[in-house]
Amino acid sequence: MATALDIAKHNTNAAPVAVTESARAAGKDALAAEKLAIEKKADFTVEAARQSSLVGLTRDELKDKLAEIGVPEREQKMRVAQLWHWIYFRGAKNFDEMTNVGKGLRAALAEAYTLARPQVVSEQVSKDGTRKWLIRMPSTGPLDKGAEIECVYIPETDRGTLCVSSQVGCTLTCSFCHTGTQRLVRNLTSAEIVAQLIVARDCIGDWPDATPPEGAFVPSDGGRFVSNIVFMGMGEPLYNTDNVVAAISVLSDSEGLSLSRRRITVSTSGVVPQMERLGTEANTMLAISLHAVRDDLRDVLVPINRKYDIAQLLDACRAYPGLSNARRITFEYVMLKDVNDSDADARELVRLLKGIPAKINLIPFNPWPGSKYECSDWERIERFSEIVFRAGYASPVRTPRGRDILAACGQLKSETEKLRARARMMAEQGIGAEGVYALGDAE
Ligand code: SAH
Ligand code: SF4
Repeated sequence: MATALDIAKHNTNAAPVAVTESARAAGKDALAAEKLAIEKKADFTVEAARQSSLVGLTRDELKDKLAEIGVPEREQKMRVAQLWHWIYFRGAKNFDEMTNVGKGLRAALAEAYTLARPQVVSEQVSKDGTRKWLIRMPSTGPLDKGAEIECVYIPETDRGTLCVSSQVGCTLTCSFCHTGTQRLVRNLTSAEIVAQLIVARDCIGDWPDATPPEGAFVPSDGGRFVSNIVFMGMGEPLYNTDNVVAAISVLSDSEGLSLSRRRITVSTSGVVPQMERLGTEANTMLAISLHAVRDDLRDVLVPINRKYDIAQLLDACRAYPGLSNARRITFEYVMLKDVNDSDADARELVRLLKGIPAKINLIPFNPWPGSKYECSDWERIERFSEIVFRAGYASPVRTPRGRDILAACGQLKSETEKLRARARMMAEQGIGAEGVYALGDAE
């Protein structure tokens, strides 16, 4: 996957998104935005309970699994603690490793469950050390070959950041984002979100007693190989808040994966009604995909703006729980040539953010096959950054990482091409193709 050839093939097969594509062609024209759907329909949600692997489950889910195989209630909490340590602290792949769990229970667990990880279909390593994995989730039924998502590891000398996906594809249709063109969409379960970190740690040898692969670039400061997590892969995390919040509880649990909530950042395109909940229940850092300072332009670039406009979005930012100068909101701003990169835009950005503890991340636009925009010239980005800097913001221009393997922001798109969920459900229930086409996309 993710070879230039594959992606080209994907694009030529893009008949189902033709309407969106033609609207995209009119990219910079606000009027065209009227015809551009704000979002596609999410196809379906998978129940975590269908998975037989214990990897990625929350404490409550593990407890249920133990109850299912007859572990008495009075023992369950202690057993969950043991499983937790083996799965999330040691990275166990086999129940036999769990030496403090009795042989009988180990056998019962192995009979009923696995510690299998989602399958790594491919791994690509960029010249700069960035790694991108295509991960296939277990099948959810006889006609499902398993949803595919991408996950990216970005090592630096003093930290390692894992960029995780929250959905397969994205229901939103931001006009500069590759993921937004993917048609099939479903929410990932919390276990599928957590499993991305497990897979990454397997691949880079980041467990006690494991070693990184020969020549791998990992942080050299003696710290953890994955120290930070950003929800900036595929999908809109706040359209899957329940699972994202549950996943964060597992990722940050101090007896297991133990990531600091201050080092977990959730990026949203601006799902205003969910922002407070994220702050209260997950207590993570927040990033906002702002990208434009005027509603007419943001309506086109980030169409959810037509539901929640810039003023509403910034009000929700001001109200974000725990906001302080030590815990700033990151505003992401993609630099699009002649679209949003003028001096006036930079000045308006500074004016809008006044009073909000903020960081500004300028992101050079990453092109993808078929994209309609160009990245701003370097001098323009510097000039923009200078204006922002003079206003008192450190404005790092985020160096694109892993561009050569299409792993940079907004370049992610998996090849999950299957029967649509509805078609699959109908086929599983014995309803034929006529029924599928009759219902079709009319809804
Ligand atoms: N859906 C969420 C999180 C995933 S996108 C969101 O939109 O915030 C992660 C970041 O990459 C967002 O800021 C997004 O706007 C940005 N992005 C998307 N496509 C891009 C592209 N082609 N070049 C640069 N950044 C892009
Ligand atoms: Fe979805 Fe974010 Fe891409 Fe917009 S930028 S289409 S919200 S992944």
